[in-house]
Amino acid sequence: MHGTRILEEADRLMTVCNSCRYCEGLCAVFPAMELRRSFSDGDLNYLANLCHGCGACYPDCQFSPPHEFNVNVPKAMAIARAESYAAYAWPALFSGAFARNGLAISIIASFSVALFIFGFAAFNDRQVLFGVHTGPGAFYELMPHNAMAVLFGAVFLYAIVALAMGVRAFWRDIGEPVGGRAGPRALFRAMRDAGELRYLDGGGVGCVNEDERPNDRRKIYHHFAFYGFVLCFASTCIATLYHYLLAREAPYPWWDLPVVLGTLGGLGLLIGPAGLLAEKFARDPALVDQQRLGMDVAFIAMLFMTSLTGMALLMLRDTAAMGPLLALHLGVVFALFLTMPYGKFVHGIYRYVALVRYAQERQQI
Ligand code: SF4
Ligand code: SF4
Repeated sequence: MHGTRILEEADRLMTVCNSCRYCEGLCAVFPAMELRRSFSDGDLNYLANLCHGCGACYPDCQFSPPHEFNVNVPKAMAIARAESYAAYAWPALFSGAFARNGLAISIIASFSVALFIFGFAAFNDRQVLFGVHTGPGAFYELMPHNAMAVLFGAVFLYAIVALAMGVRAFWRDIGEPVGGRAGPRALFRAMRDAGELRYLDGGGVGCVNEDERPNDRRKIYHHFAFYGFVLCFASTCIATLYHYLLAREAPYPWWDLPVVLGTLGGLGLLIGPAGLLAEKFARDPALVDQQRLGMDVAFIAMLFMTSLTGMALLMLRDTAAMGPLLALHLGVVFALFLTMPYGKFVHGIYRYVALVRYAQERQQI
């Protein structure tokens, strides 16, 4: 007996697949499955998060619908994966945010943008909000740097703690002892597999999306989004070092490292999410967890909006639009941080942890 209906279904499918084993070369899920004769809830959540949703095992399967076995591994894993995010959420009180994620993120994003606009208007007069501010320290005429650092530092710290607690619960559930450490080889191998998105290629031929012809588009757009995010994060870290170590205040000139990294990252975060969104809407409905479409779309839209507002701020920072655009950008980033532990962002983290476990298992064979 399993805790949920989807875990019952995942168990049924893995039992069929374990007898068949036709797909063992496609990804990490099937080799990990073959190491087990029966599946606990934790095992199934591990396999679900190891699945990259490439879709390749659906058209390849001789037991997929209309066969009576009704084998649809990508869809069952997608649903089980989404339900696992809610199961491991911390605090558990907020786990419901995953089910209505699109709505929750829309409300929080609108509210936080309004909060920054209202805050700027309340603490400054209209001339400051709509005035032209240039040169070092221009942003801080609208909001003091320390207030910005405390507010964003607090929400970022909260997101990190909530994510760490979720990962702790996941790690324990998939069979690793709490406090059990992964070895450096497993960590490195998982990092390499995650960095290459090794299992998002259907065993080498590409992802199956709108039809049975595989292609690499989803993998490429994932790369744009992931590395765009990393570059934007690096830009923010370097800007923080500039501020505290070199006493250099933002905004920085076009050629400076935080702006160069932020611009490259911003482009990645426009191209990647836009492409992923297009692929998502074109995807064969048989592969899609329709109930959680809102969560996927909300996360992609938040990444896109973070970049769009940041790029608009970069281009128009020397004009009167700077104040409203800064409020808009900070509001979107604040909402992104706040909702990070309760939306699709967690998929990257759980998938990495599942890859670490997989690397460890491979070492032990
Ligand atoms: S998905 Fe289908 S073809 Fe692939 S291992 Fe499972 S039962 Fe076999
Ligand atoms: S959808 Fe792709 S990653 Fe997931 S189990 Fe099937 S082949 Fe593996």
